[in-house]
Amino acid sequence: MYIYILATLAFAVTASLIAYSKGRNSLGWFVCGLLIGPFALVVAALSPVARGGQFISCAACGEVIRVTATVCRHCGSAVPAAPPGAVPAERTTAEQPGGPA
Ligand SMILES: [Zn+2]
Repeated sequence: MYIYILATLAFAVTASLIAYSKGRNSLGWFVCGLLIGPFALVVAALSPVARGGQFISCAACGEVIRVTATVCRHCGSAVPAAPPGAVPAERTTAEQPGGPA
């Protein structure tokens, strides 16, 4: 019986960590892991990274962070303020050749 409880908790924690790393609701996935065990792991692992609206990719490390974050929680680098929906990793670095003289 104990092995069943331990395995269920392991599935729940792992599903929660996977969901957290993808910017998803970790508490909800923890509950899913408790209820459906290994199936929650599979679904959490196959679900896409939440990118729309509230999350962006860190320009320094590429991990998913909140739009409102000022410091990346993964690498600790400062996150420049960006308009909603902007993806810092794809910002253009092209400068105007022959700018103001
Ligand atoms: Zn980062």
